[in-house]
Amino acid sequence: MTIPRTPSSSPLARARRVVVKVGSALLTDAETGRINRAWLESLIEDLLRLRRRDSQVILVSSGAIALGRRQLGLAKGPLRLEESQAAAAVGQIRLAHAYKELLESRDVTVAQVLLTLEDSERRHRYLNARATLETLLSLGALPVINENDTVATAEIRYGDNDRLAARVAQMAAADCLVLLSDVDGLYTADPNKDRAATFIEEVLKITPEIEAMGGRSASDVGSGGMATKILAARIAVSAGCHMCIAAGHPRHPVRRIEEGARCTWFVPSATPVAARKQWIAGTLRPAGAVTIDPGALRALLDGRSLLPAGVISARGRFERGDTVSVLATDGAEIARGIVAYSDVDAAKIMGRKSSDIESILGFRGRDEMIHRDDLVLLNPEPAAAERVGS
Ligand code: GLU
Repeated sequence: MTIPRTPSSSPLARARRVVVKVGSALLTDAETGRINRAWLESLIEDLLRLRRRDSQVILVSSGAIALGRRQLGLAKGPLRLEESQAAAAVGQIRLAHAYKELLESRDVTVAQVLLTLEDSERRHRYLNARATLETLLSLGALPVINENDTVATAEIRYGDNDRLAARVAQMAAADCLVLLSDVDGLYTADPNKDRAATFIEEVLKITPEIEAMGGRSASDVGSGGMATKILAARIAVSAGCHMCIAAGHPRHPVRRIEEGARCTWFVPSATPVAARKQWIAGTLRPAGAVTIDPGALRALLDGRSLLPAGVISARGRFERGDTVSVLATDGAEIARGIVAYSDVDAAKIMGRKSSDIESILGFRGRDEMIHRDDLVLLNPEPAAAERVGS
């Protein structure tokens, strides 16, 4: 299905939070193995242009292994795990240095975040990484992310930054993910082998036919092929995030997308917040429940967060990040949400003002027991409103 795109209709132009992923083949010169400086400067200018328009930007950058192997004199071809770990250690510091120089000379603070698979798969680490990204963005820094290849082992690594970038987009509730690649998008078949291959501009649903178009990529420095890009698209769209595969080689690769350059867009059926809420509402077994007073119920129905002050009781065993039910005083389940405190801490702060949390618990957590972005009303219509007598 193809719909001509004008620059203003690009999801990029509307995005509040954008994740851009660049692959090793773009970042490093195939001949010299060095960073493609002029190209990288043009990319950075594109990112700063997005920021000037008030989009928050996260960059996921590969290249550590490609840069490090040259420095260590490791020959071309597949590396053993410990060789790629060593190459990553040497290359990552070079990569970080390049980003620091390029961004700080333009008055932007750069932050390096190295993630492992576990940071996105284990709930506690996921929440920690999410909070760190949120804080960096709110302080105006530009996070540059890579997999922590030095500690990632064969069994627990992404190995490709396409899926890592999609997880980051999901974690950060980004509305747009751009995978800059050595191909300009998705074709019905490999265009190098099949002359009848046609280009796909827009994917509204990832069907088995779309998945079958995956194939393997010809690039020998990065590890992601089209197949991993489609896996990444699955993660992104299910998190409500638009994803685009576009050619990264030309200078100003992001600006070119907005100017209508050819690329493939994967379109989600919901916004990031709606996708998250669907997921929360669909939790099969909430870990526990909190009962709230009528004032808090009224606040929830008005679209506000649940504060500790409005909680009367808590039951069940839950940790920060678990989904819990929110009950009215008559026991009816009104909402579900991701709770910011464990059952033990919730019991200590319920009924108390948010400003007292630090003195009660000894650390400064969130002001909300459940933030409104993490909360979904199950039946927002009349029955709930009647309970508050409005
Ligand atoms: N994390 C790897 C690196 O920085 C690259 C993974 C990939 O090629 O996608 O070298």
